[in-house]
Amino acid sequence: MTPKEIVIISGKGGTGKTTITSSFVWWLREKGKKFVIADADVDAADMHILMKPEPIKEEEFVGKSVAEIDDELCTYCDICRQLCRFDAIYVEDGIYRVNPFRCDGCTLCEIVCPVSAIKMVPQVVGSWFLSQTPYGPMVHAKLNPGAENSGNLVTMVKHQARLLAEKDAIPYIIVDGPPGIGCPVTSAISGANFVAVVAEGSFSAIHDMERAVETARHFGVRHGILVNKAGINPENESKIEEYARKMEIPFLGKVPFTRCVMDALVEEKIAASSCADVRNALEGIFEKILEVVDGA
Ligand code: SF4
Ligand code: SF4
Repeated sequence: MTPKEIVIISGKGGTGKTTITSSFVWWLREKGKKFVIADADVDAADMHILMKPEPIKEEEFVGKSVAEIDDELCTYCDICRQLCRFDAIYVEDGIYRVNPFRCDGCTLCEIVCPVSAIKMVPQVVGSWFLSQTPYGPMVHAKLNPGAENSGNLVTMVKHQARLLAEKDAIPYIIVDGPPGIGCPVTSAISGANFVAVVAEGSFSAIHDMERAVETARHFGVRHGILVNKAGINPENESKIEEYARKMEIPFLGKVPFTRCVMDALVEEKIAASSCADVRNALEGIFEKILEVVDGA
């Protein structure tokens, strides 16, 4: 059985994407469905706060290689520093050093060094985890502070979630995607069966939502729009519905903004489990998503 992958994204942070994803997970569990949870928001992972995962397995994630200079061999010829177009090589107290945050891993310095004093060293940029939660298995990750390559780590999280779902014949993978439209988002939506774009009624959020929709379109992934925190700006929320109609994108529904959601988050509870209004609104949205995914 090929698992169906449903990714929840938003054009910008703060739209309540994780509130929606965690509620989806809770609802699926209530319906007796089986699924793997994947937290692909590796730059700002917060699903673990609500899912409370207990790690079963942890593995380091190796990203790009970075140049390292062996001072014992270096003859201080300065060729590497002059040729590095990322200004990653500098001299400190007469010793040639590499700034790993600037090094692009292009290997040029390694090639040009006349005494082979430079070698490329793979960097551990984070870890990924396989965990158990009260809702089901979860794959998540932690990127080291300042580390890049989050797109590759997202790919790893999704890959591991898929392997697990295939091994245990689990029908769904629920992915909490990253916000924005950058490389991590394209990694998150690539190969997905459905992308739910979470929007809210602020002016900037509409613009960001449009860009998220364009990204999903560009990759040919089926998608729909839902409005979170509905009721704060009805005029703009209508514009989102209008946009969905105009673009012929399924409008999945609106989730009301209530004080209850804020209280639930403070208490680290899942909104759908605590707030009846939100639960009722989300039920229809989740049913629509499953209809699309299961009917595909
Ligand atoms: S690998 Fe490329 S970017 Fe890194 S220090 Fe060498 S020349 Fe500069
Ligand atoms: S090119 Fe090699 S020998 Fe020359 S400064 Fe760089 S590391 Fe040292």
